Amino acid sequence: MRKKIVAGNWKMNKTYEEALSLVSEIDNMVKDEVNGDVTVVIAPPFPFLQGVGKLMQGNDKLHLASQNISEHESGAYTGEVSGAMLKSVGTEYVIIGHSERRMYHHEDAQTLYKKMKAALAQGLKPIFCCGEPLEERDAENHFEYVGKQLHDSLSYLSNEEFDQVVVAYEPIWAIGTGRTASSQQAQEMHAYIREQLARTFDAEAAYNTSILYGGSCNPGNAKELFSQEDVDGGLIGGASLKSRDFADIVKSF
Ligand code: PEP
Repeated sequence: MRKKIVAGNWKMNKTYEEALSLVSEIDNMVKDEVNGDVTVVIAPPFPFLQGVGKLMQGNDKLHLASQNISEHESGAYTGEVSGAMLKSVGTEYVIIGHSERRMYHHEDAQTLYKKMKAALAQGLKPIFCCGEPLEERDAENHFEYVGKQLHDSLSYLSNEEFDQVVVAYEPIWAIGTGRTASSQQAQEMHAYIREQLARTFDAEAAYNTSILYGGSCNPGNAKELFSQEDVDGGLIGGASLKSRDFADIVKSF
């Protein structure tokens, strides 16, 4: 059975002290208020991984993620962070292919494939992001666009590798804009993604893959989005920076 997952992507926000306060608040709220079977993933900036991870220990619902990973194993790559480094500070998940990294850091499909392999080689679980820009949606080309993203970065993985992958559908026009995909738009794309994954891997693997929705998800819309058959949770940006909002989203299943 696939996992229900709510992942908070803190992006480039918070100082170290603020990050520790935020994770402590989330830890307490999740302990006190969340009974169901939900995996809560928190992706702080690199320098805070270890400190934030320490405060999450003892709460088995909370799991640590990084927002990026180097495609290289080690060596002369100034400013990069390897999978082994992430693993050594307790990271379990890695966000790969976020639209902001594709856009601002020119990460292409081939690089993302290498990042998937680098994460999997260390036993890290990739959260692979896909999603179309507005012009592709307006041109009704969104299914083909997302299908190609999946094909180009995932289809060369083995079935065993693919078993570790979480997919996040994040339409670019909904990220940080306050404009959410309707639950119907999310459901139809998630069903399409699952169908593509079933073709590439197998039906059981696709059925067991958690597919998260991301894009202006908040406590007011999470319940309806998460009630869709193929929506297994959310990747949350802005609302993950406020403990109350994030905890309320976690409680939306
Ligand atoms: C994101 O960037 O992954 C995201 C979903 O952001 P927001 O929730 O702020 O739209």
